[in-house]
Amino acid sequence: MILRSLTLDFFRNYPHFEGTFSPGVNVIWGENAQGKTNLLEAMAYLSTASSHRARYDKELIQFGVDHAFVKGEVETRDRTFTLEARLSRGARRQLLSNGVKLKTAGELAGVLNTVLFCPEDLWLIREGAAVRRRFLDTCICQLRPRYAEALAEYRRLYEHKTRILRDWGEHPSLLDTLDEFNLRMAQTGALIIHYRAHFIRRLGEATPAIHRDFSGGREELELGYETVSTVTDPLAQPRAILEELLAHQQSHRRAELEARQCLSGPHKDDLVVLLDGLRARQFASQGQTRTAALSLKLASREIFFQETGEWPVLLLDDVLSELDGKRQEYVLKRITNGQIFITCCEEMELSRLGDARTFHIRGGALV
Ligand code: ATP
Ligand code: MG
Repeated sequence: MILRSLTLDFFRNYPHFEGTFSPGVNVIWGENAQGKTNLLEAMAYLSTASSHRARYDKELIQFGVDHAFVKGEVETRDRTFTLEARLSRGARRQLLSNGVKLKTAGELAGVLNTVLFCPEDLWLIREGAAVRRRFLDTCICQLRPRYAEALAEYRRLYEHKTRILRDWGEHPSLLDTLDEFNLRMAQTGALIIHYRAHFIRRLGEATPAIHRDFSGGREELELGYETVSTVTDPLAQPRAILEELLAHQQSHRRAELEARQCLSGPHKDDLVVLLDGLRARQFASQGQTRTAALSLKLASREIFFQETGEWPVLLLDDVLSELDGKRQEYVLKRITNGQIFITCCEEMELSRLGDARTFHIRGGALV
C-alpha cells in the first residue's frame, strides 16, 4: 500500500500542506517542533480515524480555526482512491472514501494500513495494560472489520452496563435489563477474545525472531495473553468462550452489584511481554524496552503483509535518534519493503537510505 500524496488544511501547525511521496523511503526532517510528527499523525489518522496522541479530534484542528482537512491519495495493488477526513470544532467529523461519506470509522478498516512507531511506544512495554490493548485493537481493527464492529459494540454495552451498576441503588428497575446486557457483552466479548488470541498467537510467532536479531541473539522474548481467568482456551470458537464468560459473569453478579462496577471482561485484557522469562513491564531496561516495542511493531507489519499480501505504510517517528549505530543499521536493513516515512532532526542521516525522497519541514511548511 502506498500513500501517494497528502493534502492538509489547518491540521495542527500546518495552514496548508501538499506533498507527493516516494513509494519507497521518505525522510521528513527538520528541527524540533516544526511539524514532523504532525505529518505522520495526519497519515495515521487517515488510516485509523484516531490519533496516537490526541484524545479529542479538536486537538488536531489548528489553534484559532474552526475546521481541519486531511486528504490522501492511496494506491493498492488493484486500485487508487482518496481518503478524506473533515474535522470541525462544532460538528461531527466526516470521513470520506472517494468522495463518499463513510457511516462509521469501522468502514476504514483495512483501507489504508499503517504501522506507526513513535517514542511513546516505550509505554507499550512499560505502562498498564490499556496501552497494549490499544496496540492490539489498532492492529486487529485494520485487519478484521468485524472486530472493529465488535469493539465499538462492546464499548457501548460497557458504558451502559457501567451506568446500570452505578445507578441501580437509586433506580432499582435498571436491574431488569442487566441480564440482557450481560448476555450481549458476553457475546461480543467472546468475539473480541477470540480475535485477540489469534492475533497474539501470530504476534508470538513473529516477534521473538525479530527481537533476537535485534538484540544480537542475546535476549528471548515471549508473548502471552491474559484474559478472563475462566476462559480455558482463548483460541477456541467464540461460542465456547461465550459459555465460559456467561458462567463467569453469573459467579460475579453479586460482587459487581456491590462494587457497582464491571469487574471482568476483555476490557481488562493484557498482552504479556516476557524477556528471558521475566515480565518486561517490571524488569526490562530502557534499551530492552525500546527494542521489544519496536520488535512488536515490526512483527505486526509482517502479519499485515502475510494477511493482505501488501506491506502497510510504516511510519517511524524519531526512531533513529533513539538507537545506537548497530540498532539503527538493523532497523534500516529490516525496512526495505513497502513505503516508509521516517522523521529525524538532521539531514545527514539520509546518506544511509539510498535514494530516499526528502522533505524538509519548517514551521508547518515544506521548505
Ligand atoms: P520534535 O522533533 O520535537 O518531535 P516535531 O517536528 O515532530 O518536533 P510536532 O510534534 O509535529 O513537532 O509539533 C510541531 C508544533 O505543532 C508544536 O510546536 C506544537 O505546538 C504545534 N501544534 C500542535 N497542535 C497544534 C494545533 N492544534 N494548532 C497549531 N499548532 C499546533
Ligand atoms: Mg516529533
